[in-house]
Amino acid sequence: MEQNENFASMPKGFSLDQAIAEAERCLLCHDAPCSTGCPAGTDPGTFIRKLRLKNITGAIRTIKENNILGGACGVLCPAARLCEQECCATEISRPIEIAKIQRCLIEHSWDRGLKLLSAPEKNGSQVAVVGSGPAGLSCAAELAKRGCQVTIFEAHSEPGGVIRYGVPSYRYDADFFAHELQEIKSLGVEIRCDAPIRGEGEAERLLQNGYAAVFLATGLWGAARLKPEVADVDGLLSSVEFLASLRDGQLEVLRDRIKGSTVAVIGGGSVAIDCAESAAKLGARDVYLVYRRSFTQMPAEKSEQIEALESGVHFLVLNQPVDFVINHHRKIEAIRLVRTRLAETSGNGRRTPETIPGTEWVLNADIVIEAIGNRAVTDSSRWYPNVQVDGQRLIQTDSSTCRTSVEGIFAGGDIVRGPGLVVEAVQDGKTAARGIMEYLAGKEV
Ligand SMILES: Cc1cc2nc3c(=O)[nH]c(=O)nc-3n(C[C@H](O)[C@H](O)[C@H](O)COP(=O)(O)OP(=O)(O)OC[C@H]3O[C@@H](n4cnc5c(N)ncnc54)[C@H](O)[C@@H]3O)c2cc1C
Ligand code: SF4
Repeated sequence: MEQNENFASMPKGFSLDQAIAEAERCLLCHDAPCSTGCPAGTDPGTFIRKLRLKNITGAIRTIKENNILGGACGVLCPAARLCEQECCATEISRPIEIAKIQRCLIEHSWDRGLKLLSAPEKNGSQVAVVGSGPAGLSCAAELAKRGCQVTIFEAHSEPGGVIRYGVPSYRYDADFFAHELQEIKSLGVEIRCDAPIRGEGEAERLLQNGYAAVFLATGLWGAARLKPEVADVDGLLSSVEFLASLRDGQLEVLRDRIKGSTVAVIGGGSVAIDCAESAAKLGARDVYLVYRRSFTQMPAEKSEQIEALESGVHFLVLNQPVDFVINHHRKIEAIRLVRTRLAETSGNGRRTPETIPGTEWVLNADIVIEAIGNRAVTDSSRWYPNVQVDGQRLIQTDSSTCRTSVEGIFAGGDIVRGPGLVVEAVQDGKTAARGIMEYLAGKEV
């Protein structure tokens, strides 16, 4: 497989001229269904209309006021099933490329040095945010815009959560994020990195330490494993470990390790595709994506599947991994697989895979990456023992305010929804900020 030297940076987006030309295809629908298709209320109907009328600054202002991570969403949103799916131009030709226009406008604002957001005088309320992923950043920015003093506590040495330590840099690079982060910091948000809130009851104790409210946005940093009892095996990694090391200064080490090797990735979602494509771009000889269902049942976006195929990833569908082959040096050598077939439709309308007896076989692999699901880390509920969680350790909230079962503690993003999207985490941050302001106002009364 060919090595991609541009692993560390993402492809260029629309130029401003291209964005204007694309906006000119907009039908200016009165009810702007695209705007209802955006989970974070970014309001593409309004910013595209403004762009069509050459009010470029106004268009940028609309995005930034509605979505503090408008640039990240412009790059990462699966827009084809969100805003663009609702676009009426589809009935005539093809949907307006909303995400690309959005990204272009945000980049244009950086090129022009436009500062369109500001924070008012401080209102005296201090709020703590735990986690600096999209949900935490969005909540912090919204609160800062309303005059709160916000401190984010972040476990990693840099802010950003999955968009900094998960999504590979050829899809979303650090320079792009640095611009967006700078705008959030310029609102007066303080971010304390290497500052995990992990001790027994530590998250709840923030309320006693002077913070009027706490927003929990710790995401899902635990990994589901095929054989949880199998640990410390050279070459056997979870997707979280693999992707985080790629973005944590280990890119060249991994490139040396992967170049010329055979890599097997287990899973069929977007995260599995990120792992497989990354391995291919790092020069693996062969990359196999092992998935127990069929190609069309993969949860990954179609566009992602096509990109992975184009990168040379081999799709090994209808194969269920059952065990690992590990040598006496505790190094991975292979995966044991069994072929599957799709049984009749189950209650959820999805045909379930069943193994075919006698079809076991062995796939040799130098490196195996398990991408079978992200979950809340095991001891997370210890950090907030009185906050109600479900069996998956996901925090239970009132979705209209993000309130948890503990007064003054709010939560949002993946730690509440389970694996979601950046744009959904942004919306949770907005909802929580509104909920927190109402709560603070109630306390004052
Ligand atoms: C590999 C991968 C690729 C993805 N690609 C896309 C995509 O292309 N498009 C898309 O829309 N979505 C994508 N997603 C999903 C998206 O990234 C998440 O839905 C989103 O990041 C969730 O945001 P969050 O703020 O809830 O959590 P996270 O982004 O997980 O952030 C949580 C933050 O909390 C910090 N933290 C955790 N525990 C503590 C603690 N105890 N104390 C202090 N800090 C703590 C973490 O270090 C992290 O910084 C992807 C997810 C993954 C895993
Ligand atoms: S944030 Fe995402 S879903 Fe919303 S309008 Fe922009 S690209 Fe579409």
